[in-house]
Amino acid sequence: MKKTVFFFRYLVVLSVASSLLFSCKKTDIAPEQPGIHESNPVLSYIKKLGYRDSEIKDIGDEYLVDGDILFAKKSEPDASLLDGPKTEQYGTSNYVGYSVQPNIFIYVDASMNAYLNEINGAIAMWNNVINCRVKFGITTLSGIAHIRITNANLGSGVCGAAYFPINGQPGGLIRININQIAGNSFAQRQRTIAHEMGHCIGFRHTNWQSGEPQSGVASDNGAYFDAMHILGTPTGGDPNSIMNGGQCGSGATTLSNFDILTVQFLYPANPPVAGTVPVFRYYARSTWQDHFYTTSLNELGNGTNSDYIFEGIGFFAFQNQVANSVPIYRWYLPQSGDHFYTANPNEIAPGNLEGIAFYAYPSAINGAVPVHRYYNGSFDDHLYTKNQNELSFIPGYTYEGIGWYAY
Ligand SMILES: [Zn+2]
Repeated sequence: MKKTVFFFRYLVVLSVASSLLFSCKKTDIAPEQPGIHESNPVLSYIKKLGYRDSEIKDIGDEYLVDGDILFAKKSEPDASLLDGPKTEQYGTSNYVGYSVQPNIFIYVDASMNAYLNEINGAIAMWNNVINCRVKFGITTLSGIAHIRITNANLGSGVCGAAYFPINGQPGGLIRININQIAGNSFAQRQRTIAHEMGHCIGFRHTNWQSGEPQSGVASDNGAYFDAMHILGTPTGGDPNSIMNGGQCGSGATTLSNFDILTVQFLYPANPPVAGTVPVFRYYARSTWQDHFYTTSLNELGNGTNSDYIFEGIGFFAFQNQVANSVPIYRWYLPQSGDHFYTANPNEIAPGNLEGIAFYAYPSAINGAVPVHRYYNGSFDDHLYTKNQNELSFIPGYTYEGIGWYAY
């Protein structure tokens, strides 16, 4: 069990009612007193995400990371800051929760009124993706807005900047540097906005690997890379991705096929097979390391961020038993916080049997695909994924074979 506390602990107060969390809830952490937060935890957090010192710029109240990603130094009162996702056809692991759908509302600050056409064009770009539950819309009511878009002087060479999601909410702020983009073509101005919107729903830069270590073991500050590769996209980059960074005024102006595949993978609107339901995936990394899977959104909702982060849909499985399916049992070991899932009723884990999590196939029938099982012995964590490329940047997990077959 690894105890690395780098989140702002007071975010615990934002967590969902503890009565809804049974065994996956760790012990409560007392909120810190306001006013004693330093920039240091944010900086360590950013490094923890894998960013190097050279990629982190102190711009006053915020850190500007990897060109255009914002991290506020002070998480209050703006809760829309911390925690990064991993994506790039790589996502960060923070995604928009299920309470936010179908519409993510954008409030356009008056400073951006001259760019309404570009904003609407960027919205249309994402909204035109079929089978995607995330849709953007403009609101004139700032109170219900998820994202505010505003002009800001970000310095030379920076087109825009945005926040990653947190607590299941989209990144709350997009800054556009009108000084910088005014001379760009309409398509490029629209691209900048669409790109920043991508960050708000959890995309990292597709080309983030350029010049960075390919293995997660060692960046120059000792951090690990937790960028998660998205199933079905290339690992070697995608020159057509709108989510490539460092391309202010020169990047792709439409979503690439892999961008589309990614947003559909992260935010699918429909189950791939009748009778299947999403198995939501969470990751506790601030207190101990534990991957947690459930078909019930009531258990952890959009995640708590202070411990369990919402990582989207792990896979689709059956809520009720169908022909040829088998129960997948859920075990919990309180000492290390590990949740363990197995199709084998004879595989007795230490800890408590918590019941049947869902049903899946024991073999590749009806088009089901393998869900792979990994184990990290150094902090006792089992991880299950359809995507064997996902762990390229997360060291320490040993492959244990196919757990079951699902979608
Ligand atoms: Zn960017």
